[in-house]
Amino acid sequence: MNKLVFLGPPGAGKGTFAEMLAGEFGLRHISTGDILRAEMKAGTPLGEVARESVVAGRLVADDVVAAIVANQLQNPEAKQRGFILDGFPRTVKQAELLAGSLAAGGLLLEAAVLFEADRELLLRRLTARRLCRACGKLFNLLYGPPRQEGVCDACGGDLYQRADDSLATATERLAVYDRETAPLIGHYESRHLLRRVDSGHSKAAVFAALRQELEL
Ligand code: AMP
Repeated sequence: MNKLVFLGPPGAGKGTFAEMLAGEFGLRHISTGDILRAEMKAGTPLGEVARESVVAGRLVADDVVAAIVANQLQNPEAKQRGFILDGFPRTVKQAELLAGSLAAGGLLLEAAVLFEADRELLLRRLTARRLCRACGKLFNLLYGPPRQEGVCDACGGDLYQRADDSLATATERLAVYDRETAPLIGHYESRHLLRRVDSGHSKAAVFAALRQELEL
């Protein structure tokens, strides 16, 4: 299986496991959150449109993110080698827009993987997350702290906490997930595409369970 959507609340590990799976199988990892953060950092018009919602932990407009993804799916690598959509769709409307882009590109979604973990763990993970300002590498103080506090192991860059990983904003993002994104579980279940992975275990155990679910 190489045409996938990763679903789940913030902190469930979508980004981590998308990166691992994409690396192992040469799939294109398409993270709408990463793309929006890069646009914000570069100060593009798209970044400026998104900034207020991202910082507040609310969703960016459906048509804006759907256009980003439609564009990414036109990449020949995504068509030939496959893709993982990480953090998209996040609403039923986005799932409908995605279905249109896939159909237009002659692509068929093969699975929607739902990563699940309990709330307390999600909040602990989110607030312990740190990113490298220079290379974007992700660290978690609970599981894989950097060798030197505040410094990226890979490139020596500064580590920082995403503004939306503060306790207040992370709590808001979980509420947004319940309200806007959780209905996608039934949406994909009724299309026989849903696969569930319990992400409350170690990275190695979750990755093994993911591969088993996807028969990879
Ligand atoms: P993430 O890195 O996936 O946690 O996304 C960070 C933020 O980017 C979210 O809280 C939203 O503000 C925005 N975002 C990312 N993906 C989407 C999406 N599919 N729809 C709307 N907003 C999104």
